[in-house]
Amino acid sequence: MTMIDSEDSPDKPIFFFDIDNCLYSTDLGIDQLIKARIYEFGKEAGLDSTTVIDTCSSYYKDYGLTVRGFINHHGIDVAAFNKKVDGDLPLESVIKPDLALRNMILSIKTRRWAFTNAGIDHARRVLKCLQVDDLFEGITYCDYAEPNFPCKPERRAYEKAMKESGAKDVQVCYFADDSVANVKEAKAFGWMAVLVSKEKPRDSTSTDLHIKTIHELPLVLPQLFI
Ligand SMILES: [Mg+2]
Repeated sequence: MTMIDSEDSPDKPIFFFDIDNCLYSTDLGIDQLIKARIYEFGKEAGLDSTTVIDTCSSYYKDYGLTVRGFINHHGIDVAAFNKKVDGDLPLESVIKPDLALRNMILSIKTRRWAFTNAGIDHARRVLKCLQVDDLFEGITYCDYAEPNFPCKPERRAYEKAMKESGAKDVQVCYFADDSVANVKEAKAFGWMAVLVSKEKPRDSTSTDLHIKTIHELPLVLPQLFI
C-alpha cells in the first residue's frame, strides 16, 4: 500500500471507494460464487451441512464478516480460507475491464483511496480485472490474520482508513459502498456517504446520497468532477 505523508494534503478532499459489488455490478454474481465457497469451507471446518447457511449469515450479521465467525468459533486457518474462498474465484473471466468506470474515477478531483473488507490479494485482483488498479493512492483492507482486525461497519475501520490515507478531517471524506450498514456508519461518522444499490434504502436517513451504479457518481456529486 502507498502511504502518503499526512502533512502533505490533510485537507484535500478524499474519496473512499468500496470495491466488491460497488465498482462492479452485483449482476456478475460474484457474491454467489463467494458464498458457495464460504459454505463449502464452513462444512469442511465442521459446520453442519443443514445449518451452514444460517450459521454463516449469523456470523456475517454478528461480526461484519463471516470469516471472523469462523476465526472466533472454529479457529480456522486464515491462509486456507483465503486460498479456498478468494484465491479460487474465477475473477478474470467474470470481471471485465471497465473503461467508463476508469474515466469516471480519473475525472474525480479528489484524492482516491480504496476501502474494502476483503483481503489485499483479492482487492488488488478485482481492481486489476477492472483495469483501475493504478488509480488509487492506497487500499485500506482487512488482514484476516491480524487478531480482532477492524472491518466496516465498525467505527475503527473508518478511523483506520483515515489514518492510512492521511485524511485528517471527516468533513473532507467521501465514501461509496453497496452496503447500507457501511454507508450508515460512514454518515454517522461525518463522511459524505453514497449508497450504490439498485434498490433505494428502506430508511432514507441511512445515507446522504443514493445511486444505482457507481457510474452515476458525477450526477449526485458534480462539484467533485472536472
Ligand atoms: Mg461491497
